[in-house]
Amino acid sequence: MKPARWVIGNWKMNGGIEANARLVASLRAQLVSGSAVHVAVCPPFPYLSQVRVLLGSGEARGIALGAQDVSAEAAGAFTGQISASMLRECGATLVLVGHSERRHGLGESDHIVAAKAAAALKSGLTPVVCVGETLTERDEGKAETVVSRQLDVALAAIKKAVSTTPANANNAFLVAYEPVWAIGTGKTATPDDAQAIHAVLRKRLLNAGFAGVSLLYGGSVKADNAVALMSKGDIDGALVGGAALDSAAFSAICAAAEATK
Ligand code: PEP
Repeated sequence: MKPARWVIGNWKMNGGIEANARLVASLRAQLVSGSAVHVAVCPPFPYLSQVRVLLGSGEARGIALGAQDVSAEAAGAFTGQISASMLRECGATLVLVGHSERRHGLGESDHIVAAKAAAALKSGLTPVVCVGETLTERDEGKAETVVSRQLDVALAAIKKAVSTTPANANNAFLVAYEPVWAIGTGKTATPDDAQAIHAVLRKRLLNAGFAGVSLLYGGSVKADNAVALMSKGDIDGALVGGAALDSAAFSAICAAAEATK
């Protein structure tokens, strides 16, 4: 089974009622209709319902709605947290877990990330499990070890969760390799370096019994490097931060995903 092509825009803590409306309108105008590439945008929590309406419903919208994080808990005394079922009610179908700005900025451990992935799956959301090494870890030659550990902890929780849900394990979750040193820095991993890590992740997924899981690259993906990255055999798409706020750049990245499929 060939993994699906995906381009996901992470708006991070950007946007506003008017800016969101402008961005979605120009995305709808610029994205090529009928493309086989799956496209999603992840606005901040307060705008999920607004963006859901802007995207429209069902087949017509063509752009899926995602959130940037989810609680590992189902409900209760967890001030400030947002549950997977709340995200579902707001129209989200996928959610990022383990983004480096949460792992490194907020101290989320591999086990918290894994619990969030499991909570998402149990509520019928598709988790996008983000993994990636810091610059120090890369310089110390530990990139493969770090991303393998991050993935393995998440896979153990995912295995348990999919065994108790009707989810099809092959497309119930996505994985994004995002080297921390390449996020928002303008420094992109070379296509060969990114492919090398993706090959490691693919092997681990296959060994764990997950074929057909889409593997996205993230880290300063732009219109001018997207084709080179997504031409690599194990890079099935892109998780895009900064360029997702520019409809022309984001649409060009989606076109690159289509052209290289
Ligand atoms: C991200 O936020 O996931 C990301 C990859 O950001 P950027 O594209 O800006 O590096």
